[in-house]
Amino acid sequence: MKLVIESVSENESFARTVVAAYITRLDPTLEELADVKTAVSEAVTNSVIHGYCGKTGEIEVICTIQGKEITVQVTDHGVGISDIEKAMEPLYTTKPEWERSGMGFAFMEAFMDELKVTSEVGKGTTVLMKKQIGKERVE
Ligand code: ATP
Ligand code: MG
Repeated sequence: MKLVIESVSENESFARTVVAAYITRLDPTLEELADVKTAVSEAVTNSVIHGYCGKTGEIEVICTIQGKEITVQVTDHGVGISDIEKAMEPLYTTKPEWERSGMGFAFMEAFMDELKVTSEVGKGTTVLMKKQIGKERVE
């Protein structure tokens, strides 16, 4: 599934709802669904406010299902991140004046099984996340 949205904050809830609908066939628990929605929401919000800094651009959300595992990839063609390791540290934010708490990546890491960030300054950022659905379920 590939969704291309404009970088406006209103589209963040749309993107997370689409991903949630897409993965319902795996019969996720409400908690798993909430985890994925939060992670998508954090990634898209980052592209809107940091990647494009309020300017208009495209954000791609690609979601695939393999067995019980979902992969969500969020890509922007914005400013990029110069120090990914630093950016991923909990509480690190470059926009404290905007009341950002620097917890976006920490949430993505906590709610998903895998998080990979690739970025090039001036070119954009891709966040790749994976999660196994139905891991803790006793059938
Ligand atoms: P919060 O998510 O808690 O509101 P935050 O967005 O600053 O705060 P993170 O989501 O953890 O915190 O991101 C950390 C930092 O990484 C950001 O402050 C920003 O500098 C950088 N960053 C994250 N995503 C992108 C992106 N798509 N493009 C450019 N920079 C980014
Ligand atoms: Mg954030």
